[in-house]
Amino acid sequence: MDREKVIREEQKCPICKEGIITVITKSEYYSYHSARAFNKVKRIPVHHPEKIEIENKCPNCGASKQDIKDALEHGKQIPHEEKLKRSKKAGMPTVIETTIEKKDDKWDEDD
Ligand SMILES: [Zn+2]
Repeated sequence: MDREKVIREEQKCPICKEGIITVITKSEYYSYHSARAFNKVKRIPVHHPEKIEIENKCPNCGASKQDIKDALEHGKQIPHEEKLKRSKKAGMPTVIETTIEKKDDKWDEDD
């Protein structure tokens, strides 16, 4: 799999359950980038995790795209207690993607 699938659908706002918002889900996928080390070129797989994007603010409760995204992501993957902890940190920028890229770079082995 080297291309992401993009699904675009209308959903009810996870916060007020009334407003209609447009959610774009990009499936996880792998791509490759080449890294040059000495005279060798290596293909390094890069994992792109599933990503959710929100296209509009909630017209009903006015929740921002980020609020809606957090609510959708947390509702899906994070158990209740963790959800409460995280919601206190709302507003922090997410660094998940850069963390993953750095991890992949270490994958390179010199021998
Ligand atoms: Zn709403």
